[in-house]
Amino acid sequence: MKEIILIKNGELALKGLNRSNFEDILIKNIKRRLKDLGKIEVRKAQSAIYIEPRDEQFDFEEALERVSLIFGIAAFSRACVCEKDFDDIVKKSTDYLKNTMESVKTFKVEAKRADKSFPLKSPEICRELGGELIDAYPHLKVDVHNPDVVVYCEIRDFAAYVRAEQIPGAGGLPVGTAGRASILISGGIDSPVAAWTMAKRGLKLNAIHFASPPYTSLRAEMKVKTLLSKVARYSGTVNLAIVPFTEIQDKIAEHCPEDYFTLIMRRMMMRISERLAEKSGSAALITGESLGQVASQTLPALVTTDSVVKMPVLRPLIGMDKEEIVRIARNIDTFETSILPYEDCCTVFTPKHPKTRPTLANCEAAERNLQIDALVEKAVNETQYTYIE
Ligand code: ATP
Ligand code: MG
Repeated sequence: MKEIILIKNGELALKGLNRSNFEDILIKNIKRRLKDLGKIEVRKAQSAIYIEPRDEQFDFEEALERVSLIFGIAAFSRACVCEKDFDDIVKKSTDYLKNTMESVKTFKVEAKRADKSFPLKSPEICRELGGELIDAYPHLKVDVHNPDVVVYCEIRDFAAYVRAEQIPGAGGLPVGTAGRASILISGGIDSPVAAWTMAKRGLKLNAIHFASPPYTSLRAEMKVKTLLSKVARYSGTVNLAIVPFTEIQDKIAEHCPEDYFTLIMRRMMMRISERLAEKSGSAALITGESLGQVASQTLPALVTTDSVVKMPVLRPLIGMDKEEIVRIARNIDTFETSILPYEDCCTVFTPKHPKTRPTLANCEAAERNLQIDALVEKAVNETQYTYIE
């Protein structure tokens, strides 16, 4: 039996004139995500998108799994393709819905007749198909108010489709509809969640990671790549910039007061990130900071890190508790990787008594002996790029 995936757009419906553009981007994202599973045809009609396999080998289950992670999809379902002939609809749907119908007690049929040349009107389709289903599954009763399951029958221009339950989609907006931004990603719990959260609002992601070998190991870098590949299942491919940060940390340790280490390090990260973001066409930076979580994330500390860049810094986790962040991390399957115990460049240089109420003037004084511009320039030039899928 031929099956398709039927997709309901999310907030797209609200976007007025932009809608068609949003749908086109969503369709492009869907095609890209399913590309290696075999040939498909993707059509749009009203507020739905139809994915039709055109390949015997097409891995339908894997496709459903992937579709469930694509942003911009409110709900989706699998549907069986019938001829636009009532007998064929009855025959195929009784068969197709077997498992569903055997597992429920009540149902109703909803019908939509986009092709007005189909001889039965919608209420007639509901009544007739409902009757046939009861004949096939006599334990069933119709309940129009609160059915266990709704069977949808749609008569379209190109075919008729029958489906039962809808599966909730990943929600959000299609990646790419909101532009591009760069996530500063560490190996921690927070930044992958921040990346996912902003991709969900339609941002295409680039990533920036600061590595400090030999203080940080190759395993720490691998961990970041693993985390990004988990985010990429939702966001699509991510271009990762790996910035050599060892020399800068050594210089900070050599020339700056210890209680300012973390802050100055963060200010250096922001300066370099802004440069890399500009190069990659990003309009904003994203971090995983949450207000008050650690000394470098108090409001005065955030003011001092913001002040070295002109680009907006998006901090989607700013008002979240750790538990809320961990819950998302578990849902998107980054948590177990994040808690692997590899060192990162911040933990290596954590001062014993970090400043929690720094002022801009004190920060500037503390980094007075650093060759800031030269260090930034060198780090930008020595940055390595890799694609994460
Ligand atoms: P995370 O769990 O994301 O590591 P955190 O709570 O440990 O966050 P910090 O280590 O203070 O917080 O880092 C704050 C933010 O700075 C991170 O969320 C991330 O966006 C960025 N960041 C920290 N370390 C790095 C790094 N090595 N490379 C790139 N970005 C980093
Ligand atoms: Mg961290």
